[in-house]
Amino acid sequence: MSLRVLVGCKRVIDYAVKIRVKPDKTGVVTDGVKHSMNPFDEIAVEEAVRMKERKIASEVIAVSCGPSTSQETLRTALAMGADKAIHVEVDPKDYSNMQPIHVSKILAKLAKDEKIDVVIVGKQAIDDDANQTAQMTAAFLDWPQATFASKIEKDGDHLKVTREVDGGLETIKVKLPAVISSDLRLNEPRYATLPNIMKAKKKPIDKKKPVDLGVDLSPKIEVISVEDPPVREAGAKVKDVDELLAKLKELGRI
Ligand code: AMP
Repeated sequence: MSLRVLVGCKRVIDYAVKIRVKPDKTGVVTDGVKHSMNPFDEIAVEEAVRMKERKIASEVIAVSCGPSTSQETLRTALAMGADKAIHVEVDPKDYSNMQPIHVSKILAKLAKDEKIDVVIVGKQAIDDDANQTAQMTAAFLDWPQATFASKIEKDGDHLKVTREVDGGLETIKVKLPAVISSDLRLNEPRYATLPNIMKAKKKPIDKKKPVDLGVDLSPKIEVISVEDPPVREAGAKVKDVDELLAKLKELGRI
């Protein structure tokens, strides 16, 4: 049995960008800021493409929910080796309220429509840090889930997944179909080469709207405010341990 794999690809502010909070505290500045595919999603795409190269998977479909700019992210996934892509078009004003529950409903519906065997998403999106989409997608589908995967192997009609847990590694067997979330050590994603970027331009991107998939985007949570982390106070230098101890005593710390 060759697997059909659906991979979530979110466009996020690039990990190297210094984030700035908007003066009205409603969110962070995104205009004119470099965006890239969420790093954990690059790992998810890489794993799906490797499954195809090892003949475990027959087709890799990348999906991104967001405004038209999400298509750049899908082109990257196609250049890395995904076969086709689905752009779930979300109006920019609705996108600012879009939450993992909505993405999960969309992924679950697409998984059913596309007769998917494995959904792979990143363990978390580095912008909202929610770590919810894999879990909620599995719940909507009523499929088993293997989160924080650092190794995935096919074992008959199951997958054997090694998970990064506190203090070690846990290996579990999940029945297919299943949902997996990728952790950092699962693999090292390849760079898209220029010839593959050119080839990716010819690969298809289907367009769908959340309403076509029966998903209502009304928000379930409301963001009250977004703020910068507190600024660390300046430290002081001491000559030696005696001076350090004297200072700590003076401050009532010991
Ligand atoms: P989160 O639960 O928001 O931390 O996101 C976890 C993972 O879900 C991401 O790494 C993506 O693989 C997937 N995901 C979240 N939002 C989107 C989106 N707008 N489009 C496609 N995939 C997404």
